[in-house]
Amino acid sequence: MPAWHALSPAQVIDALESNEANGLTRPEAAKRLACCGPNDITARSGKPPWLRFALQFNQPLVYILVIAGAVTAFLGAWVDSSVILGVVLINAIVGFLQEAKAEKAVASLSRLVKTEATVRREGKRERFDSRQVVPGDIVLLQAGDRVPADLRLVKTKGLQADESALTGESVPAAKSAAAVAEDAVLGDRGCMAYMGTLVTAGHAEGVVCETGDRTETGRIATLIRQVVEISTPLTRKIAHFSHLLLWVITALAVVTMAVGVARGERVFDMFMAAVALAVGAIPEGLPAAVTIVLAIGVARMSRRNAIIRKLPAVETLGSTTVICSDKTGTLTQNEMTVREIFAGGELFTVTGDGYEPVGELRIEGAVVDLAKHAALAECLTAGIRCNDSMLAREPSGAVRIQGDPTEAAMLVVAEKAGLSRSEHDETAVRLDAIAFESEHMFHATLHRGAAHKVIYKVGALERLLERCGDTLAPDGSLAVLDRKRVREVAHSMAARGLRVLALARRYVPPDHAVLEHRHVAEGLTFLGLQAMQDPPRPEAVQAVRLCIGAGIAVKMITGDHLATATAVARAIGIAREDGKSAAGSLTGAELGAIADADLPRAAEATAVFARVAPEQKLRLVRALQSSGHIVAMTGDGVNDAPALRQADIGIAMGVAGTDVAKAAADMVLADDNFATIEAAVEEGRSVFENLTKFIVWTLPTNLGESLVLMAAILLGVTLPMVPVQLLWINMATALLLGLTLVFEPRERGLMQRRPRDPRQPLLTRELVVRTALVSVLMLAGSFWLFSWETQVEGETVQAARTAVVNVIVFVDIAYLFNCRSLAGSLLQVGLLSNIWAIAGAAAMIAAQVAFTYAPVMNRLFHSAALSGDSWARILMVAGVALFAVEAEKWIRRRR
Ligand code: ADP
Ligand code: MG
Repeated sequence: MPAWHALSPAQVIDALESNEANGLTRPEAAKRLACCGPNDITARSGKPPWLRFALQFNQPLVYILVIAGAVTAFLGAWVDSSVILGVVLINAIVGFLQEAKAEKAVASLSRLVKTEATVRREGKRERFDSRQVVPGDIVLLQAGDRVPADLRLVKTKGLQADESALTGESVPAAKSAAAVAEDAVLGDRGCMAYMGTLVTAGHAEGVVCETGDRTETGRIATLIRQVVEISTPLTRKIAHFSHLLLWVITALAVVTMAVGVARGERVFDMFMAAVALAVGAIPEGLPAAVTIVLAIGVARMSRRNAIIRKLPAVETLGSTTVICSDKTGTLTQNEMTVREIFAGGELFTVTGDGYEPVGELRIEGAVVDLAKHAALAECLTAGIRCNDSMLAREPSGAVRIQGDPTEAAMLVVAEKAGLSRSEHDETAVRLDAIAFESEHMFHATLHRGAAHKVIYKVGALERLLERCGDTLAPDGSLAVLDRKRVREVAHSMAARGLRVLALARRYVPPDHAVLEHRHVAEGLTFLGLQAMQDPPRPEAVQAVRLCIGAGIAVKMITGDHLATATAVARAIGIAREDGKSAAGSLTGAELGAIADADLPRAAEATAVFARVAPEQKLRLVRALQSSGHIVAMTGDGVNDAPALRQADIGIAMGVAGTDVAKAAADMVLADDNFATIEAAVEEGRSVFENLTKFIVWTLPTNLGESLVLMAAILLGVTLPMVPVQLLWINMATALLLGLTLVFEPRERGLMQRRPRDPRQPLLTRELVVRTALVSVLMLAGSFWLFSWETQVEGETVQAARTAVVNVIVFVDIAYLFNCRSLAGSLLQVGLLSNIWAIAGAAAMIAAQVAFTYAPVMNRLFHSAALSGDSWARILMVAGVALFAVEAEKWIRRRR
């Protein structure tokens, strides 16, 4: 591989048989794609499967079990020993499968966030999937892009790249086209842009020299294996909790064993009992269940267009208290149509909808003749020259736009008036540009003209008007600029919810070569205003209402004008119609004047923030967080990245967002839609709900079954159940019953509650009460049944124990259905809404029938056949438990 960085751009282009001005031809690119393969880094899985399986045994619980299994085998208790080892094995298999599934769910997410590249082919700019890029392609980079492949830079303008992923250096590196020494290290190769790094400023052109696995990133990825992070604060909290529980339970088991031995029981029996009750009480399935619930949540969210990039976001989403959303494209459709134009002191209206260039420009009802309105023509011309967007026809005949809808709208209106860009491009070649950025709120371009060069500037009125010295009269001659009139017209447009763009031009001498900010800071001629309509998204209106009902504040943060923003906010329901609502509005300038100490209060009381610069978003997030809010913040630009990182949930736009914003975000909206945020919050709440359901089911069932054994030993009575039976219950119910709760569908009314406090402990008071209630019911039911069977019915101890095993299992089943709703009644959730629970319960009943009647089970587990009367008593106890928990929920609801 040549040292591309040591060669000149021309040498590199030659070596790669490319052409700077035109790029590759399409057939050549197709040929190269076929021989070099797609520009993709082959996914390499981390640990090999056997190792991941082996790691499942690396847990304290498993050590205890393995020791117990070994001891029992050594003592010749083969059945017990094989049941114990069976538990170990099943535990490992379930853990392994769940982990694999969770990893797969998380890993597939990164593929959902696509990266596109802008490439010059056959002399034209094209934008397509980065995987199609081939060596020799001429790639155009601009701030916000992810570098699609390894590039030798040919031309740069203020280019800076964040290469931390590659070099570990967090300060963006300045780049230029100058060759460097052959032995320069990666971080010093200023003329190269490497795949996967992020462009944070400027723009550039480069030629692709390596793609896919041959890039630097591709080669490093072979060394550092990609790991998928599937742990979150919650999984760690639960792992910690299980760990603690493990020691408490082990201590209890040791005490129980000691008491039993002191009473004169056989040491072996007591050891077995201690092991069984420890294994029974420890909720070994918990950590795996948390991971799987999170993975299911991730999958459900991506089906609703919310792509999670960082797993902890799944749990934070459910606690969100404030959503700060962009206006354009998120709350509105980002389908711009120019409705009104103000030029040469005259006001024109525009008919026609969408991007289809059919419609007319009118003045006072009459169709405009462009020849008689030179100022209008110049205003339209500025709009199409200072423009990076394109209109294309789909095969179906519909018009599709490429680039910024704001700019596309200006192309459409010009075409309606009979002007199109293609004829202008030849007479006014573009020489340089200052790209639009939310910071400076304008776009400017420099063009070659006949007698002189011309600069066009398009942007927010505030950034233009003061810099204009004159304007055009209707006939195109220079005229005096009436700033007050312009402001009034602009304000009236904005107050009707229109987005207003101001346009200006400046003639410069023919030797003027580059465009810099100072060139558009003075001496401009004002050309006019173009006002465009961007209808609200109907689904956003609905989603905002749901959020407000769910105790989540919605705030609009926009770069647009205050009047436009407030009008849209009213239409969407963020600000109230009457204007009397407490939710006020602030502009960026006002925001800047508020002291840090007063900002939290002001931020809480404000719903609309207009003319906000990206760095103010960061300040807002911090202020809201300081008053205890969990903040979700959207963003799309390069400069939004710090705010997205600071927010509890940073949300990037999938369509309109830059790659830099996506890289900083916790979640990406595939459809840029506000309603998707609401959907993700709903799923986030549901994730927590299902997790709680699982915990609420697991704790009492595990505790209850162990208490039965422990109480018998401590009281010194006949064991109502032998240890191997407890192991059976524990294994079978965890597998067939508990896990079905993670598939519980979303409950109705989720969005009618307040957000969950993230500091809420795992074990709430309700949970402790419920655990105690169910454990006691199980304990009492078991002892009652055991004594009834032996003393009243005169059954054998074996049969009575079988009845006890069954009663515990049936209470577990009944309680499973109780747990399908934490607070609501069993009847509300709908019996058939979770078929897994039904299937699990059916399988469990079948297993119990086998346990009771199959001779092999009778031998293995010391069970015996039961009479119909015994079954009736078992069902009665389960029924009592079912009603008791429903009654407890009912009482709680009443309070
Ligand atoms: P938002 O995305 O919140 O609507 P922007 O930062 O995109 O806000 O826009 C802020 C202002 O910048 C707009 O009101 C408009 O005047 C101007 N503007 C927006 N897009 C462009 C563009 N492509 N070219 C020139 N000016 C623009
Ligand atoms: Mg915008």
